[in-house]
Amino acid sequence: MEVLNLTAVGEAGKSFAARVGAEAGTDVYSCYQCGKCSAGCPLSYEMDFQPRQIMRLVQLGLKDLALKSSTIWLCASCATCTTRCPREVKIASVMDVLRAMARREGYPIKEKGIAVFHRNFLNTVAFGGRSYELGMILGYKLGTLPAQPLKDLDLGFTWLQQGKLKFIPERIKDAAAIREIFSKTREIEQADLAKERAQGSGPETGHGAGLPAGGTEGHS
Ligand code: SF4
Ligand code: SF4
Repeated sequence: MEVLNLTAVGEAGKSFAARVGAEAGTDVYSCYQCGKCSAGCPLSYEMDFQPRQIMRLVQLGLKDLALKSSTIWLCASCATCTTRCPREVKIASVMDVLRAMARREGYPIKEKGIAVFHRNFLNTVAFGGRSYELGMILGYKLGTLPAQPLKDLDLGFTWLQQGKLKFIPERIKDAAAIREIFSKTREIEQADLAKERAQGSGPETGHGAGLPAGGTEGHS
């Protein structure tokens, strides 16, 4: 088992825990490690850290471990953990915040396919105000090349025949308003990132803000 040097965490770690708690709207220090969240999580068997362990990493200010974990990308935002928590810790929101931070600060994403899926989903919503499945599938296949580009092709054809996949994306009446929301969110995110960098708490080698030019990145 890896030995962690907690004495090195210091103020930066406290500020990380405080930021996560503030952005998630929850008191991360309320967690007393009962494990009810992990026991109820439908995806815990795939995670490198259990949800309760992620809470502990946050409390201890172990930012790198938390932001590099596969857990934050595998989390399906089902909120089972949050509803089970006897201390009313909003764990699903903490996962959301950690994902956004990881993207914003350019951390390597362990579950790349999931990140590509999120980006494509949000890009289609940013474009037309609603999801566009065929665009998402094509974007996902291109974004995850060379991994299995033809996988599930037969399923795709069946869905097309059944009319479940549309060639032309549907758009809501006021798609411009949705684009405006995405654009404002990008502005806020970039301003936050610039502020963090100015305060010296941002990444040393960030890959840019979490929102790509054509849309946004995050969790649906
Ligand atoms: S259920 Fe709540 S208190 Fe228990 S380990 Fe999970 S976050 Fe902590
Ligand atoms: S929200 Fe995420 S961490 Fe919580 S139970 Fe669902 S999948 Fe697990």
